[in-house]
Amino acid sequence: MQKIAICLCVIVAVFFQSSAASAQEVRVEVVRDGNEWTATYRFARSSPGWALIRSNPARKTGRSWRLDSWLVETPGVTLARFDGRDLLIADKGHVPRTVQVRFTPYADDILAGYDPALAFSTGAVALFTGQFDAMPWSAENGVDIQKAQNAQVILRDRRGKVLFDGARHHMAVTNGRAGYAVFGNADILETEYLATLIDPDLPDWLSAELLRYIPATLEFYTERLGSAKKDGKPTIMVSWKGATPGLSSLGGSVLPNMVAMVMEGSALSDNSDKALDNARWFIAHESAHFWLGQTVGYQKRADMWMTEGGADLMAIRAVASINPDFDVRGELQRELDDCVKFTRNKPLGEADKRNEFRAFYACGAIFGMIAEAAAQKKGGDFFTFWNSLVAANRKDGIVTRREWLAALDRIAGNTAFSADIRTLLDTSQDDPGAVIEAMLKRAGILILRDNDGRLILS
Ligand SMILES: [Zn+2]
Repeated sequence: MQKIAICLCVIVAVFFQSSAASAQEVRVEVVRDGNEWTATYRFARSSPGWALIRSNPARKTGRSWRLDSWLVETPGVTLARFDGRDLLIADKGHVPRTVQVRFTPYADDILAGYDPALAFSTGAVALFTGQFDAMPWSAENGVDIQKAQNAQVILRDRRGKVLFDGARHHMAVTNGRAGYAVFGNADILETEYLATLIDPDLPDWLSAELLRYIPATLEFYTERLGSAKKDGKPTIMVSWKGATPGLSSLGGSVLPNMVAMVMEGSALSDNSDKALDNARWFIAHESAHFWLGQTVGYQKRADMWMTEGGADLMAIRAVASINPDFDVRGELQRELDDCVKFTRNKPLGEADKRNEFRAFYACGAIFGMIAEAAAQKKGGDFFTFWNSLVAANRKDGIVTRREWLAALDRIAGNTAFSADIRTLLDTSQDDPGAVIEAMLKRAGILILRDNDGRLILS
């Protein structure tokens, strides 16, 4: 049996408030010298501690990845994990204004966050600059996350240039914009629609599929959802972690005008129908985020079900539109099973606090099916449902949960579905399947229970 681990890391980011107006409190100089990497923090003020804002744990261990890959060299400062965040804390009093860290780029998957680094077989490394973002922390007050800012990150490679924002620099400066900066040998390939940085060791069929299917998908979505917010060609970075036996793993995350993908596994070495469907589904999910995520994003992390579930369902429909044999029912059944599993005795709206991000994808797709069914009764589909949401919210760039649910109320002509969805989001149900079953039935979606009580889409 091959393990198919399709893990989709993130999306929308938490883009912190623009720091253009106020001086950045945190500047970090990141320097690569061969295999040596240092980050030197310069804090504009004193604080007993600094919280590293993006602190989602490693997927493999469920623990802080920094504790294994960062080493604080400045005496009197400790890197510690507290309350779900990595902190630089003073052993006594305040943290010095300058703190030096030596680190090994962490090129592994983290839970629902941007991978801190992507490693390419050429030796090039793409470093996510947002990993250095920090804000004042104290034991009494914790952090005021509303005030989070991107740090100003200065990037240098002693042996070459750094590629950032489409250009190579002796010294790149992020100016408050988080993104991937590429150190080392990296050839960007420009096509009509895309700028790509694809690992040369990626299986050939997969590179070819990426170059063919990404533009086709972007075109398909543009037709259905209107144009996506963008400046210039999107950049696609793909790293290949090797043909690990028994694995098929596709991971990705989206930043403004950019997708970063990490692929691994022997099951992807050769082109099979299954591998092709998986790759296309994955591309379609990630591409959907140029609309659900970048053109309009969510307000709070707990609202991620709209964009992640939306991208999941759109990907299923997009792949099915080109492959009539695509196992749509199997995909939807997986979403249904996971939605029931991850909401038993716990509110969906707190899944992020439990690190159960899968719940958002699965239940979001099921809620999407409800919206889709309601739209179909009026001659539309899931894309027309989202087309209106995108159009109405393009300006402020946010779809709130209230707006999504109100759109469902309008298209359904009643408030019963949104009431059920709120129940699952906000309350703990010992039988969430009963709520989901009732909702799907009312929407006209055929569903039954097997002998074990499992909900089955027919
Ligand atoms: Zn996603």
